[in-house]
Amino acid sequence: MTLVRVAPPLAQDVDLSQTYDAVIVGSGAAGGMAAHVLTTRGLKVLMLEAGKKLPIEQELRSMQWPYDHPRRGDAPPGYHSLSFNEYTIRTPPYAKNSTFQHVMSYVGGWGGSDYVKNILVDEKNHPYTGTKYAWVRARALGGKTNIWGRLALRLSDYDFKGKTHDGYGDDWPISYADLEPYYDKVDLYLGISGVKENLPHLPDSLFQRPNKLTFGEVKLRDGLKKMGRVLTPYRAGVTTDGLKHNRYRSKCYGRGACDRRPGGCDIHAAFDSPTGLIYPAMDTGNLTIRTNSIAHEVLVDSNTGKARGIAFIDSATHKSYEAKAKVVIVAASTLESARLLLLSRSSAHPNGIGNSSGHVGHNFCEHVMGPGVTGLVKDLVGKPPTLDDGRPGGFYIPRFRNLKDRQPGFVRGYGFEGSGGFSIFPGKATGAAGFGAQFKKEVRDHAGAFIGMGGFGEVLARYENYVDLDPDAKDAWGVPALRFHYQFGDNERKMCEDMVAAGREMFEAAGIEVVGTDEKVLTEGWSIHELGTARMGSDPKTSVLNQFQQSHDVKNLFVVDGSSHVSASCQNPTWTIMALAWRSCEYLASEFKKGNV
Ligand SMILES: Cc1cc2nc3c(=O)[nH]c(=O)nc-3n(C[C@H](O)[C@H](O)[C@H](O)COP(=O)(O)OP(=O)(O)OC[C@H]3O[C@@H](n4cnc5c(N)ncnc54)[C@H](O)[C@@H]3O)c2cc1C
Ligand code: SF4
Repeated sequence: MTLVRVAPPLAQDVDLSQTYDAVIVGSGAAGGMAAHVLTTRGLKVLMLEAGKKLPIEQELRSMQWPYDHPRRGDAPPGYHSLSFNEYTIRTPPYAKNSTFQHVMSYVGGWGGSDYVKNILVDEKNHPYTGTKYAWVRARALGGKTNIWGRLALRLSDYDFKGKTHDGYGDDWPISYADLEPYYDKVDLYLGISGVKENLPHLPDSLFQRPNKLTFGEVKLRDGLKKMGRVLTPYRAGVTTDGLKHNRYRSKCYGRGACDRRPGGCDIHAAFDSPTGLIYPAMDTGNLTIRTNSIAHEVLVDSNTGKARGIAFIDSATHKSYEAKAKVVIVAASTLESARLLLLSRSSAHPNGIGNSSGHVGHNFCEHVMGPGVTGLVKDLVGKPPTLDDGRPGGFYIPRFRNLKDRQPGFVRGYGFEGSGGFSIFPGKATGAAGFGAQFKKEVRDHAGAFIGMGGFGEVLARYENYVDLDPDAKDAWGVPALRFHYQFGDNERKMCEDMVAAGREMFEAAGIEVVGTDEKVLTEGWSIHELGTARMGSDPKTSVLNQFQQSHDVKNLFVVDGSSHVSASCQNPTWTIMALAWRSCEYLASEFKKGNV
């Protein structure tokens, strides 16, 4: 396999007099998958992406050591990453009145903001209002997949049929059996590493070579076995064996760089939408891409009420354009997609397109995180160093609450993400005791002995958690900003208390000394797993989309990202977003050929 690192050229001078078969808004996991499926089925597709096409390898500089960077990875003066306190004490828009020239979301603060300063949006240009929310956005070809954390999990019928299981919320209009073949397709097309565990609540993928667990992680895994719980190597959306059908991606060489900074892999072993989906789609000859194109309205044919295209603004010139298409596919990410639907008001759709139910923007859900535990594996103190950090992830402990049991205080569950062992920066060095040579010995002796994990819990989908358009605030292009009406509830708070107690209990059961617990619940939005603002359902009165992510109101309008999710599950969403988009676009392509959309 000869790797082609050079991306196919993008056509910026797109022919807008043409009517495309489909126009896709957004180029992340959802938009990329829509482009892959539709172009391989012969549809002529135009993709509009608000961000730039970046020379991503030069942005990520995955193999750069901290000491090779003039500021150890920090962004240049004038840049600022929002902190927990800023999100918590102040209210949005967070960049208002900031004296910094550029304000980025908190992700930039994860030890290397120079690497994401052009990928994340500048909050100054992209304000939002309302309740506190750490909204992380990436406007670039590929969206957030350029820097995602790679944990690639499936949902199960504990999620799809959650209401049947515990009475809360609504079931999805599909079951695991409907989606399983598409999860398989995603696994085979993109590559995923992991180990089979045969768990009904965390179905296995078609895995490539797994990453090794470290000594401390194996110790924890053994301890958990006795409690009937499971610790499995990080299920990473990474190709560890390589993909013969994709010439833009290399197999993983275990350089651990993606785990060192806020994501990103410059040889694209970790999935990203451009190399995984978009460049191969361009190779079909059926995909045209226009970057710097901010969609602000789904255009409607006033005679039929159907979608006829997209109105967009060029982000660089601020000029307005229209793109014409027979089918419109919205894939701008959960909150941006809701914003676009709400912005698309017409006489046929006075509350926004596809919103006759009034549910667009509502049932907004995600994951709650923050609580966690840090432990010391005493057997490792003073032992010679081992090479532990060349991995794209550590471990995952799947949900164990409210499966067969019923917890007092909360419904649904949470999983833990964690890792232990040696890493590029010695764990807890700043907290070590001593001075001079004694301090250095203390740091070296303990460097590989720490293990830590943090919970990710399901936030319940609630109608009263929603976003709408702010009547006054606008972004730098004059497009109305989103306003949040969103807060965690009692279920989330109780679940977070349980995370701390359960984490401690598990470490103790494994013979790992607990040296710290985190009880703080991070600000709403912190998980970057926003979902549910245009949910699927069988009843057009209480849902926006049908099981194929097709608008109940407008049959040539599809919304193929996380906004369609009925509940958040506690498993990370990206693999499900792509499996659903694959299924829906396959349906769309066959209906298109029959002339039914
Ligand atoms: C640091 C980080 C870690 C993460 N870790 C994980 C993880 O471990 N596991 C997991 O499952 N998920 C993870 N995620 C989340 C994951 O990245 C998202 O679930 C996924 O990218 C969603 O895909 P999407 O296509 O819906 O949105 P995005 O990837 O955000 O793509 C949306 C695209 O639409 C474009 N767009 C937006 N508005 C418009 C408009 N008006 N007009 C035109 N284009 C527009 C954007 O510029 C963007 O390129 C992580 C995210 C981040 C940032
Ligand atoms: S560990 Fe693998 S996926 Fe991560 S940066 Fe290195 S090669 Fe890429």
